[in-house]
Amino acid sequence: HVSIMLFTRDLRVRDNPALAAACRAERVVPLFVFDDAILNGRFAAPNRVRFLLDCLGDLRESLRGLGGDLVVRRGDPVAHVARIAAETGVQAVTLADERSAFGTRRLAALRELRLEVSAHPGVTVVPPGELAPSSGDHYRVFSPYWRAWEAASWRPVADPPARIRLPGGVEPGTLPELHDLTSGSLSPHLPTGGEHAGRDRMAAWLRSDAAAYEQAHDDLAADRTSRLSPYLKFGCVSPLELANATGGAYRRQLAWRDFHHQVAAAFPDLPRRDYRPRARRWNREHDALAAWCDGTTGVPIVDAGMRQLHREGFMHNRARLITASFLTRNLGVDWREGLAHFGDWLIDGDIADNAGNWQWVAGTGNDTRPNRVMNPLRQAARYDPTGAYVRTHIPELAAVPAPHIHHPWTLPTETRRPLAYPPPIVALP
Ligand code: FAD
Repeated sequence: HVSIMLFTRDLRVRDNPALAAACRAERVVPLFVFDDAILNGRFAAPNRVRFLLDCLGDLRESLRGLGGDLVVRRGDPVAHVARIAAETGVQAVTLADERSAFGTRRLAALRELRLEVSAHPGVTVVPPGELAPSSGDHYRVFSPYWRAWEAASWRPVADPPARIRLPGGVEPGTLPELHDLTSGSLSPHLPTGGEHAGRDRMAAWLRSDAAAYEQAHDDLAADRTSRLSPYLKFGCVSPLELANATGGAYRRQLAWRDFHHQVAAAFPDLPRRDYRPRARRWNREHDALAAWCDGTTGVPIVDAGMRQLHREGFMHNRARLITASFLTRNLGVDWREGLAHFGDWLIDGDIADNAGNWQWVAGTGNDTRPNRVMNPLRQAARYDPTGAYVRTHIPELAAVPAPHIHHPWTLPTETRRPLAYPPPIVALP
């Protein structure tokens, strides 16, 4: 019996139910296909492709350590599965159950092949569709979802394979270089991708900062969140293992992730559609959007977030909330512009999480409080009281003392002028 294990966004050996199922066959082809449909679209952001290449290098090493290899191809994954199946007598394909619009189409196309296709959990703690309210097929609001999520029983953790045997005659293929896959700028400070790096990060965070998460996760300068989101995005760490190892406030964040994934599964047009089309006209002025993207709005807490995004391919959650609220509420720019810019830079950029959060901030989704507005100056005073976060990301303001750091326009003119930092592009309440 020969199986193909088609890796997608589950780039790990531990707790990978699809891989465990594939390894029940005598021989397995662990396959990753660089999908041209993804590479040719906007979703192939350089930061993410860079991270993905790390993940694949690491996965290949792990699979080789088990006696196998990672078979790498480029093109249409379904066509490659069909070709390898025909060449090696494969009967079955296993893969992670992934419910984005893209993943759903891929699964449907695989099911057209004359092969046994099985999709397994592992992308989220609780698979989309597993929890449903009595009145419908999915939860629209987080609180009841969270209660059901906490009360649900989770699947057992899957064992890693003991060994992997490839069928004869399959050429593994080489991993491409970054410039063969994408062009454009990379952030200068990127973390290393892969299961090993992810597990190291998870272990370090559980040892040092997990206990203080509840009280420290909103402190911008302390930077004490787990920074595991890119590893979760590419499946280098298992969300289930993480949920088992943590509790309270952290689990709640993992439940938010699951929540957005089940909303996106039910509403494939989540990244495009305003579900509450109101009499709101978006500001189409190019300069406002450009200043926000460049981190030159003149509002330090907003600019610091945007500059962190460009430097690290990451932004603290509190800064994501503040910058997103500023774009949509203070500048009045369409949330889909912000979604696209985040998508161009975030290593953890994910359709469901990115769109679900933008809809939440912009008040265009299913949320019960669509009119929530965050005052950027009050947020700054509360979550960056000393200004340390701003000083880290805006060198022009490094010498500005605490009383003025979040509103440098209140400095005397002779001190302000040499700073080379712009005045705010919009009046703040
Ligand atoms: P922690 O605080 O350590 O949280 C642990 C994990 O919980 C995260 O790694 C993440 O997987 C999950 N999580 C936490 N908060 C959320 C949330 N609100 N929604 C979904 N999952 C969450 N997260 C993404 O993974 N990808 C995105 O594309 C993304 N876009 C966002 C856009 C906006 C406008 C906002 C406000 C938030 C967005 N988030 C996104 C959610 C959140 O900001 C990040 O998951 C978090 O900052 C990652 O840092 P961390 O791993 O240190 O988080």
